[in-house]
Amino acid sequence: MRARIIDRVDLLKVVDLLRREHEVIAPFYGRGRDTAFDVVTDANRDQIQLHLPNPYYPPKRYVFPHMQRLMRYTLGARPTVEADADARKRAIFGIRSCDVAGLFMLDRHFLGGEHLDVYYRNLRASLFLVNVVCTDREQDIDEDCFCVCADSGPAAREHFDLQLMDLGDAIMAVAGSPAGEALFGAPIFKKAGPEHVQQRRAILAEVRKSFKKATSWYAATTRLVSQGEVSEETWEEVGRRCLECGGCSFVCPTCNCFTVTDRKVGEKEEEVERVRLWDSCALSGFTRMAGGHNPRKAVHDRRNRRFFRKLAHYYIERQLSVICVGCGRCVNVCHGDIGMPSVVEILRRRSLEQVAR
Ligand code: SF4
Ligand code: SF4
Repeated sequence: MRARIIDRVDLLKVVDLLRREHEVIAPFYGRGRDTAFDVVTDANRDQIQLHLPNPYYPPKRYVFPHMQRLMRYTLGARPTVEADADARKRAIFGIRSCDVAGLFMLDRHFLGGEHLDVYYRNLRASLFLVNVVCTDREQDIDEDCFCVCADSGPAAREHFDLQLMDLGDAIMAVAGSPAGEALFGAPIFKKAGPEHVQQRRAILAEVRKSFKKATSWYAATTRLVSQGEVSEETWEEVGRRCLECGGCSFVCPTCNCFTVTDRKVGEKEEEVERVRLWDSCALSGFTRMAGGHNPRKAVHDRRNRRFFRKLAHYYIERQLSVICVGCGRCVNVCHGDIGMPSVVEILRRRSLEQVAR
């Protein structure tokens, strides 16, 4: 393990090091227990916290913005096209392990297939990730978190550049990439000993016991969804509880659906920009076609897509895991109580009831 130790008082010097070359993003408290990612400035730098509830609005927006201009073009006798190329160097300080895993899933989707998404690649290639391990049971771990079941946390094993873990009297830093290791040249990083590694193991063993939510039925549910064994009645039951707000998709670090639209720039008809926006299978227009026909108009027909996309073997084969990292955000935002663990439970229970009939 490429590990070092940082004195607690030097923690924010990691941010200062990164700010030399990057726009640094970190999570901050808002009102009450509300938290949000924001750009670090001289004014807010001292308010960065190591422990705080993971923001609902996930950091995926720094590589897949909720609204992103793809190009501008002008119509007329001499048409012009100007592609957007935002490739600024950014670092996210304090990204949680579930969200690191979420970004990896987005990587596989946008970069791992036949068609590479250049807009995503431009933002992703210059992104530096400082993962903070969730160790504070009061601040970091929400009662709806279940990263332990999704195998994404509480400590990420890969896909970060630098990982920080609070050992109490000091912070352990682990390098996950050559860029992360390059930071170890700074004097704030001191040699770690076997006692620190032992301390890390002991803390993680304790933290793993503190998760309240658990879902151990992924595997069974994957089989049911993949083999079409979930009855129409059960999907309707799930659909009836959905208010079609789209919240679950928008807060999900792994959801990646978008729509593309053109719009005028200012008042001139001939100046147009093409933008992409987050979309959600929960929204009624998601499957509406140009002629107006909507093959999945009923809400349950769209709700089952969400869970097929996340749990079916067809997708797991391509993305190497269930497409859920256990962040618990959909549990938190859903007014119908059909976040991932609830649906997994409904599908499993109804299938057992069918067998018992
Ligand atoms: S958050 Fe709940 S109610 Fe809203 S779209 Fe998602 S499943 Fe439906
Ligand atoms: S499905 Fe829910 S719990 Fe899973 S990653 Fe998405 S928002 Fe998080």
